[in-house]
Amino acid sequence: MALHKTRKPDVDTAEDVFASPLSERALSKRVMPDLPTPPGIVYQVLRNELLLDGNAAQNLATFCTTWADDEVRHLLDLCLDKNIVDKDEYPQTAEIESRCVNILADLWHAPAAGGNAVGCSTTGSSEAAMLCGLALKWRWRERRRAEGLPTDRPNLVCGPVQVCWEKLARYFDIELRQVPVEAGATGLLPHQLRDYVDENTIGVVAILGVTYTCTYEPVAEIAAELDRIQADTGLDVPLHVDAASGGFIAPFLHPDLAWDFRVPRVASINASGHKYGMAPLGVGWALWRDAAALPDDLVFHVSYLGGDMPTLALNFSRPGGQVIAQYFLFLRLGREGYRRVYEACAHTAQHLARQIADMGPFTLLYDGEGALPGVSYTLTDPDAVGWSLYDLSDQLRMRGWQVPSYPLPPDRQDTVIQRVLIRHGVDRDEIELLADDMRRAIRQLDSGHPHDANRGGFHH
Ligand SMILES: *Cc1c(COP(=O)(O)O)cnc(C)c1O
Repeated sequence: MALHKTRKPDVDTAEDVFASPLSERALSKRVMPDLPTPPGIVYQVLRNELLLDGNAAQNLATFCTTWADDEVRHLLDLCLDKNIVDKDEYPQTAEIESRCVNILADLWHAPAAGGNAVGCSTTGSSEAAMLCGLALKWRWRERRRAEGLPTDRPNLVCGPVQVCWEKLARYFDIELRQVPVEAGATGLLPHQLRDYVDENTIGVVAILGVTYTCTYEPVAEIAAELDRIQADTGLDVPLHVDAASGGFIAPFLHPDLAWDFRVPRVASINASGHKYGMAPLGVGWALWRDAAALPDDLVFHVSYLGGDMPTLALNFSRPGGQVIAQYFLFLRLGREGYRRVYEACAHTAQHLARQIADMGPFTLLYDGEGALPGVSYTLTDPDAVGWSLYDLSDQLRMRGWQVPSYPLPPDRQDTVIQRVLIRHGVDRDEIELLADDMRRAIRQLDSGHPHDANRGGFHH
C-alpha cells in the first residue's frame, strides 16, 4: 500500500508533441515542475528554445571547435560515464591522456618527451594557464626563500593577454604587469620588457596567437631579450607561452618557427585542445619543459592500479570523452592531416583578406599569412564613412553571421577592429557568401538606409 498519494503525470503517449500540455504553456522558469513529462516532448521543446542561440557554424568570432566527425560524437557518447579523475577505474583513459601529453611534448620539442613528458589535460587553456602560472609563482618563491628575500609581491609580465591571465593574477594574488601595445604593433615587443621585469617577476607570458588580432608575439626574440637582461642584471626570468590557439597551428603551418621548447627559456606551454586542436569543447593542455619546471609541491599523488599517479588539476571530476576525442584526432589526421586542414583554412583566410582589402573602407591588420588562419581589419577613416564596425556587425548578424567588433586593448582602445576566424568546418563557399553579404551591407550602410528603405515591402 502506498504510504503517500502520488499524482500521475497527465500525458497521453499518443499525443503530438505540440499538442502536449508542456508545449501548450510557457516552461517553468523559476521552480521545478511538480510532475514529470516524457523525454521526447521535453527534448523537442528545448530544441526549439535553443534555436534562439546563434548558429555555431556561422560564429566567426570563436576559436573553438564547431564541427565534429560522427566518430567524435560516438566516442563522446561512449565515454559519457567516464570520469577522468578516476584513474583506477578508467586506466585506459588515463593511458590515453598520457599518450596525448607525450605526443604534444614531441610536437613542441620538449626534452622530456619519449614517454617522460611532464603535463596534463585540463578543461581548457584557462585552467592550464592557472597551473602554469602557479608553477612560475612557486618556483620564484622557492628561489627567493632560499636567498632569504621577501616573497610578498610577485608580478607577471605580459602584453595584451586573454582574460584568463587577469583571473590568475586576481585569484592567486599576483600583480599583472600588462605592457601597453605600441602604435602599429599587435603585441608585446622585446624592447619593452626591460622597463617591466624586476626581481619579483615570476615570469613573462608570450602569446602565440594574440586573441585580438590573430598574430604571434615574437617568442624567440622575447627570450633573447630576457637572455640579455639576465646577462646585464642577473635576473633569470622564465618564459611561458600561451599557445591557446597557435600551439595547434604553428607546428603544422610554421614548422621552422622556434616558439616552443626549442627556445631554452620556455618553461611551459598551454594550448586549447578545443580550439585548433579540433577536439570538442572541454579540453586543454598544460606542458612543462621537464620535471624541474614543475614544483613537486603542486603535484598530488594518487594511488593508481597499486602504483602512484601524479595528478595536477584545479577540477576534480571531469568528463573523459574530450581527451579520447583528442587522441582520435591525432590518430585520424596525423601531422599531414592537421597540415592540410590548416593550409586550407589559411588559404581561405587569405582569400577573404584580399576581398576585404578590395571592399574599400578597410585597412587590414592581419591578412591571414604567417600566424592564425583568420583576418583582422579596421576602418581606415571611421569619421569619413559615417558608420561604424558595430553597425556592420549588426547588418551581418541579420544574415546569421557573427563577426565581432571590439576595441583594441588599453592604450589603443580608440581603434575598433573586426576579426574573422577560419576554423575546421568553415569552407570556401561559406566565406564567399560572407563576402557577398559584407559588400551588400556596406552598400546599405553607405546609402544611409541600413534597413534598406528601397526593399519595397514584403512579397511572396
Ligand atoms: C582562448 C584563449 C585562452 C583561454 O582558453 P580556454 O581554452 O577558452 O580556456 C587563453 N589564451 C588565449 C591566447 C586564448 O586565445
